Amino acid sequence: MRGQMMDQPLLISALLKHAETYHGDTEIVSRTVEGPIHRYTYREAARRSRQLANALAGLGVKHGDAVGTLAWNGYRHYEIYFAVSGAGAICHTVNPRLFAEQISYIINHGEDQVLMFDLSFLPQVEQIAAELTTVRHFVLMTDKANMPRETSIDNLLCYEDLVNSHSDEYEWPEFDENTASSLCYTSGTTGNPKGVLYSHRSTVLHAFASSLPDSLDISAQACVMPVVPMFHVNGWGLPYSCTMNGAKLVLPGPKMDGVNLYELIESENVTMTAGVPTVWMMLLQHCQRNHLKIHGLKRVVIGGSAAPESMIDQLAEHGTEVRQLWGMTELSPCGTTSTPKFKHIGCDTPTLRQLQTKQGRPIYGVGIRIVDDGGKPLPHDGVAFGNLQVRGPWVLSRYFKRELDNSHTDDGWFNTGDVVTIDRDGYMKITDRTKDVIKSGGEWISSIELENILVGHPAVAEAAAIGVVHPKWDERPLMAVVLKPGASATRDELIGYYEGKIAKWWTPDDVVFLEELPHTATGKLQKMKLREMFKDYQWK
Ligand code: ADP
Repeated sequence: MRGQMMDQPLLISALLKHAETYHGDTEIVSRTVEGPIHRYTYREAARRSRQLANALAGLGVKHGDAVGTLAWNGYRHYEIYFAVSGAGAICHTVNPRLFAEQISYIINHGEDQVLMFDLSFLPQVEQIAAELTTVRHFVLMTDKANMPRETSIDNLLCYEDLVNSHSDEYEWPEFDENTASSLCYTSGTTGNPKGVLYSHRSTVLHAFASSLPDSLDISAQACVMPVVPMFHVNGWGLPYSCTMNGAKLVLPGPKMDGVNLYELIESENVTMTAGVPTVWMMLLQHCQRNHLKIHGLKRVVIGGSAAPESMIDQLAEHGTEVRQLWGMTELSPCGTTSTPKFKHIGCDTPTLRQLQTKQGRPIYGVGIRIVDDGGKPLPHDGVAFGNLQVRGPWVLSRYFKRELDNSHTDDGWFNTGDVVTIDRDGYMKITDRTKDVIKSGGEWISSIELENILVGHPAVAEAAAIGVVHPKWDERPLMAVVLKPGASATRDELIGYYEGKIAKWWTPDDVVFLEELPHTATGKLQKMKLREMFKDYQWK
């Protein structure tokens, strides 16, 4: 027998309608590309999103068409998120930090009909416009006063003119909740980037789940500043979850340095923020240099790469709790958070840090398991480490316009490419990426563990561990290290720093000092490049 409850599709437009109705006067504050701080409310954002939806229809954007964006976190990008998906089209956020060829590839592969972009990206778009085979309209996300006098782009449209010349009377259409809503490509360190096509259903369910108190804890009492870019996995879903809950939103625009973030946190009373570790390193350095205290910031959610323990300590000194989040583009992206349980309340700091440096336990809806190289499930005992597989309603079932490949198992699990342990309480800890793990004498050494320890050394700014071919052990760990400006340390000192912290045979065999480490466009360490650099390295 079927249940007898209403069958209402889960649609992104309903999030905005809700915020407009019940949180109409709650603010969205943006640092604009043009310079000034812009502030308005959910009511105004909803009104302008409807105008934009009419404008998109005027440009011939139909149900299922893709609209690309190259934009920072700002109110116009927010409006595009809701207008495009709300109208039944696909909001395709493109990462402007990628190389020009990758950007063209992604826009062509996504078949974007319209491309909307911030002023900062005009030169980039001018450079690739001729290669974009599907784009019919280019829209510069600015007002008339800031439109360029000259540009090589034919008929460049002005966002503000487009919005203001359309009525705000628009009924958000109803359609199947499994309709595609948005598209995001993984940066991909090898080969072409792969597209992940989200649906309204997956996005709304992800917004529910990521709002939960043990996830990101989003509420109408919060002031949330997503520093994670809206071009990278939907800004971890915060534009949706904050709208669902009516949280005040602070969008930092193009300026994600310590000075500007600190200023926004203090002036807007930000209570929660989210982003990759690099950003918090810059914020903490700014505070340290200028003897500044952070007030009122209750929580920083750190994801994308592991949060070093020293960073968790430093933020704690400001009264800020760190919660680690593990996710992937393929997971919309939230999968696990390192939130303590009731039984951990009152535990001592070392125990708490042990939890916080794990990637965390699954948010309800995400299933996780570990398997060995043969696909055999391994125990969740905190010791066995294996390949992490996940499944759930906001996990991708296949890549956009690609053949089914070995990314999924026959029984429907997604291979994350992370190597992890899972303890009895369900807390997952990444020990490596499948391709980065160091294989020494048939045993695995976690490169991440080696890095985390070394960045705790006062002279070390950044460290990377790679496996280098060894005549006896197959591979042995080599550390590539960048020292802090003005700091000094020797190889022996850094090797000695590992003593008592890990098993002896895990200790790196050598250290090389570099000016900088290679990073991807999204700020992740490019171990492949490092391995390439040191492929002929000779052990002493
Ligand atoms: P990309 O575009 O680089 O694939 P993703 O955000 O999808 O970007 O990258 C996902 C990967 O990032 C994960 O598989 C994991 O290796 C890493 N990652 C994400 N969150 C964390 C975290 N909290 N700690 C360590 N690694 C993380």
